[in-house]
Amino acid sequence: MEVFTGSFTQQEPVPEAGIAAAVAVMRHGRLHRYNVADGEADETALLEQEFANLTGARYCLAVASGGYAMATALRALGVGQGDRVLSNAFTLAPVPGAIVSVGAVPVFVGVTPDLTIDLGDLADRIERSGARVLLLSHMRGHICDMDALMAICDRAGVRVVEDCAHTMGADWNGTPSGRHGVIGCYSTQTYKHINSGEGGLLVSDDAEAMARAVLLSGSYMLYARHRAAPPPETYADLRDMTPNISGRMDNLRAAILRAQLPLLGERRAAWTARYRRIEQGLAHTPGLTLIRRDAREGFVGSSFQMRLDGWAPDRIEQTLRRCAARGVDLKWFGAAAPVGYTSRYSDWAYAPTAPMPATDAVLGGLLDMRLPLTFSLADCELIARILRHEIAAVWQGG
Ligand SMILES: *Cc1c(COP(=O)(O)O)cnc(C)c1O
Repeated sequence: MEVFTGSFTQQEPVPEAGIAAAVAVMRHGRLHRYNVADGEADETALLEQEFANLTGARYCLAVASGGYAMATALRALGVGQGDRVLSNAFTLAPVPGAIVSVGAVPVFVGVTPDLTIDLGDLADRIERSGARVLLLSHMRGHICDMDALMAICDRAGVRVVEDCAHTMGADWNGTPSGRHGVIGCYSTQTYKHINSGEGGLLVSDDAEAMARAVLLSGSYMLYARHRAAPPPETYADLRDMTPNISGRMDNLRAAILRAQLPLLGERRAAWTARYRRIEQGLAHTPGLTLIRRDAREGFVGSSFQMRLDGWAPDRIEQTLRRCAARGVDLKWFGAAAPVGYTSRYSDWAYAPTAPMPATDAVLGGLLDMRLPLTFSLADCELIARILRHEIAAVWQGG
């Protein structure tokens, strides 16, 4: 019996160029983004400039985490105490956490079997809630029909903030993920597409929102040192009215990230090759449903999802145990209690919501697996063989 011995949580090392750049920052000691020598361009400002270029955004701001980026985006749009903010029922805990952190109230929108936001439910909940902002999470890299979503939101006057924690480097029909809404937010935490341990980025074309975000992030009166921020005059009416909610990026992490930005394209290709290899290996497995991907979705396959629709919970648990015994770690979004990083809308008791039966039906059978780039294509074939065998065995009553 084959067993997989790789680690589902082992990412690639930081590239040598990133290590060298980080060491250079440590040698000169100017880690704070506004601590610059005469004529020096600091790593953080350069990272912002390069990420703005990469996404085609006018402005970019680097911050302390993805969660901080989302909360800052909401604050920059004026979201505050008691406001309702639409978001996905299927996402990770930092997303409702960002909404609650600004005193706002999440209004959860259901998920489709394709793992994208349910656009019919979105239209319905916009109308019923009166919410004026959607924090859209491209959860696990699944991108909905963004043209249809933007048409719904534009018609209703709903501004969209995109959570691109799983879609950095991805696109919808050629437009980079994060560039449909008014602000795009990214995470550079270790499990995302570029890795600085912790970190976040915001992009936008909206000068006023971005000027607010820069001030919120803790720029003091040094915003003119940014290289991808709105011009200094934009801050005149905002600078004394915007609190400093300190959450800056530092030059050490920016140096590590700058070396990874040029690799994003090849990483996307490598991830998606691994994703497709697993998908091929699982085709027509009895009892298993694969997730449909739209041809317009240019996704980054950094994780893999699949559904055991209608399976009894004990059979799913049995499948997880059997796969784990052969070295394949799966997460299950239908578990009765949150485990590790995985929780669901009904677990977030600080943001109570009525049951969502259609969403529960999808999440009840939803399995999730990380695909780190340290896996080879042969590893992916082996993982698929193990999954296929164990799922079929439990399905057939083995
Ligand atoms: C990781 C993650 C975040 C938050 O990013 P951090 O940098 O960890 O704060 C937000 N949304 C999703 C979907 C994530 O997976």
